[in-house]
Amino acid sequence: MNIIDAKRIWLSSPHMGGKEQYYVQEAFDTNWVAPLGPNVDGFENDIQTYLQNNVHVAALSSGTAALHLGLKLLGVTNGDEVLCQSMTFAASANPITYLGAKPVFIDSEAKTWNICPEQLEIAIKDRISKGKKPKAIIAVHLYGMPYDVDAIHAIALQYRIPILEDSAEALGSTFQGVKCGTFGDIAILSFNGNKIITTSGGGALISKKKEDKQKAIFLATQARDNAAHYEHSEIGYNYRMSNITAGIGRGQMEVLDQHVSNRRGNYDFYKSQLSKYADIKFLEEPAGYHSNRWLTCIETSSYELREEIRSALANDNIESRPLWKPMHQQPVFADCTAYLNGISDDLFNRGLCLPSGSNLEKDDLFRTVSVIKNVLG
Ligand SMILES: *Cc1c(COP(=O)(O)O)cnc(C)c1O
Repeated sequence: MNIIDAKRIWLSSPHMGGKEQYYVQEAFDTNWVAPLGPNVDGFENDIQTYLQNNVHVAALSSGTAALHLGLKLLGVTNGDEVLCQSMTFAASANPITYLGAKPVFIDSEAKTWNICPEQLEIAIKDRISKGKKPKAIIAVHLYGMPYDVDAIHAIALQYRIPILEDSAEALGSTFQGVKCGTFGDIAILSFNGNKIITTSGGGALISKKKEDKQKAIFLATQARDNAAHYEHSEIGYNYRMSNITAGIGRGQMEVLDQHVSNRRGNYDFYKSQLSKYADIKFLEEPAGYHSNRWLTCIETSSYELREEIRSALANDNIESRPLWKPMHQQPVFADCTAYLNGISDDLFNRGLCLPSGSNLEKDDLFRTVSVIKNVLG
């Protein structure tokens, strides 16, 4: 097909449910056009109800802002070290540096592609032996697949290091029946345009303690002390979610389960069509893991094959993308310490994310699969 004729198939595009504009209109009608209001409270309640487990939710301007405030709440400060899953989006690691702290990167395990328990423990022991006990651990549920919550949290507990759970890609995923976003001392969500639900841009900080939510909102709204005039005894930020974007979020929460089921359907379709090829592998759910399958990713047998598939898809106007380039390979983090086992490097070389939106048509999926089949011969 000619690239000009072929409809663009995106990796992951926004998918509105229908009620979003109703909540946004309501915000206009009542003139709640501000970073507070009934939609913000309503959206926070909707997420709290969805996640259960008595968590507290603060709606913020982005997942990155939530990570920044989360690290602050965990006491991370200038000169500290924070352990961070290497295979992730840069936004997991960047906020460590906003606080003058240093990331130390940990490689992945093959089972989930997430932070490896063995490497994590090696790193903790080594940092402690060097007199630099890590201040926090950032663990990520990449592409919606939960990290090994049991193993990672047991280590964190043993060494008394808090966990910041990056659940930006995993709203709707569960580990042993418990929702992702409820495991960490602090957890975060993202509602960026490419995520499983979106507010165009936005995020949330989730805490177990009510005081942490209150402190997050205090910091996110310029750290104003209680006074008639503007009084500040701490540095604040402008990180609160607006009542307009929260309106979009309320509409999106009504279709979250549908999005999860559509995205899981994409994975099942790709797998049913492609798993007969020895050169293609899929990441399976271990027992007790339930992924929202935010993105369906395949492992090809070689870098060359991955690139062949990627360019064949691009020639047909289909977006696909290599897996996240590990942070320890990023130029900006070249001087950071990393504890490595080769797994994330290998995944980065051979892995590919396929179009995975909850709004893909059956035709889009068939077209994508037929291009891949053509390459495989
Ligand atoms: C999207 C994402 C973030 C950042 O969220 P924003 O809302 O875009 O700031 C953080 N971590 C991971 C793993 C992400 O995928």
